[in-house]
Amino acid sequence: MNSVHFTTFAPLMKPFDLIIVGAGAAGVVAAGRAASLGAEVLLLEKMEKPLRKLRISGKGRGNITNTKPLEEFLQKVYPKADFLRPAFAQLFNKELIALVNKAGVPTTVERGERVFPTSQKAWDVAEGLQKWARKNDAETLCSAKVTAVNRTEDRLFEVEFEHNGSEYAEKSRAVLIATGGASYPATGSTGDGYALAKKLGHTIVPIRPSLVPIEVEGFDRYRFSDLTMRNVRLSVHANGEKIDEEFGELMLTDFGVSGAITLRMSRNIVDALREKKKVELLLDWKPALSEIQLRNRLERELQNTEVQTAGELLRKLMPSPLISFFAEKAGVQVRAKVAESDKEKIVKTLKCCRLVACGYRPFTEAIVTAGGVSLSEVDENTLQSKLVPNLYFAGELLDLDADTGGYNLQIAFSTGWLAGGQVAR
Ligand SMILES: Cc1cc2nc3c(=O)[nH]c(=O)nc-3n(C[C@H](O)[C@H](O)[C@H](O)COP(=O)(O)OP(=O)(O)OC[C@H]3O[C@@H](n4cnc5c(N)ncnc54)[C@H](O)[C@@H]3O)c2cc1C
Repeated sequence: MNSVHFTTFAPLMKPFDLIIVGAGAAGVVAAGRAASLGAEVLLLEKMEKPLRKLRISGKGRGNITNTKPLEEFLQKVYPKADFLRPAFAQLFNKELIALVNKAGVPTTVERGERVFPTSQKAWDVAEGLQKWARKNDAETLCSAKVTAVNRTEDRLFEVEFEHNGSEYAEKSRAVLIATGGASYPATGSTGDGYALAKKLGHTIVPIRPSLVPIEVEGFDRYRFSDLTMRNVRLSVHANGEKIDEEFGELMLTDFGVSGAITLRMSRNIVDALREKKKVELLLDWKPALSEIQLRNRLERELQNTEVQTAGELLRKLMPSPLISFFAEKAGVQVRAKVAESDKEKIVKTLKCCRLVACGYRPFTEAIVTAGGVSLSEVDENTLQSKLVPNLYFAGELLDLDADTGGYNLQIAFSTGWLAGGQVAR
């Protein structure tokens, strides 16, 4: 095994204070924080560039946090938001915004209290944080894939990694695993940290895709091509019992449903499907109108002599790509003249269109990973392992995930900050 040779600083003859596995949001902040407190840090990143996922976050705009007050913020986090209180006590949304601003990146608060870089470029946040970490003397070695984290007899760690076709091993007093989840593996988060943690004795709560589109029975017969419907209400029923409901934007795709409200409810839907429950999505296309108001609307439309068939009537109520699907759901013939019974069927289907969820999209399409390193084996005050002294965890690798809106990145930044600070101390 070799020792690493850096162009920017010489290899240490003594062990590093901290080796961090993964230069994502959590790893980079942990490195900068630990180094700013005087620790000798080695940050290993398997991709050719750090912070790949942050750079594409928020559709490239980087929704880095949310200015909601703590208690409201915590309601968006699962499965045990309280675990984050000590981390948020050290670095919460205001402190993160200050840190990003100090790193030379101005920020703006948008609708839903979501915070973005004013430039609308997540890339700027990544570059700013990287520079901030470097200024604190935390160097990143890229294209360095960690393959093993071992305890040594002298109670140190030996971290093995591959770099430019060679194998290396470096020693450290502490190790922070911040390898992220298993979603969007092209960004480097391929779930390696779960195996590393498991080998060190940690329990992994089964991982599953979250903030993920849902597959719906029969949708492959239609061509919705990402048709977006605004202001609809979707409620989720598992084995007949209502488990969730959201109002907002829904996207119909060629395999099922996506869009803001689907993603927000996907955690519950995925878990219900995994429990082999029958999951039905009840869709109210017109939540602002009662059945009586809809009946009146239909009558008004039918007074128009050009509106005779069910297809012509539906065209007045919804976008064209939806008509054949809706007619089938309602049990009406698009080419037939609207019968009295058709009106009732249309009203009922507008208020409650039943879709059967039959699956969910894979990790490659999931924004986050639910599950991960079990929180019961990690001290929330330090993020140190309760099983292996001086082993730390941060970021999405932990069994923590949250809604869309900047919550997930804040979790990564805050846990990285806490772990980095603890190690340095
Ligand atoms: C498309 C998309 C958009 C998103 N948008 C937002 C958003 O706008 N707001 C928000 O709050 N959240 C968003 N998220 C979620 C958020 O980006 C993640 O929760 C967050 O990046 C997790 O940070 P992390 O540091 O834990 O992991 P990551 O950012 O995934 O970083 C982990 C790093 O570890 C490295 N690594 C993995 N294995 C090894 C190994 N063996 N050796 C060395 N390095 C390794 C990886 O290459 C990676 O760089 C988005 C996610 C996706 C996929």
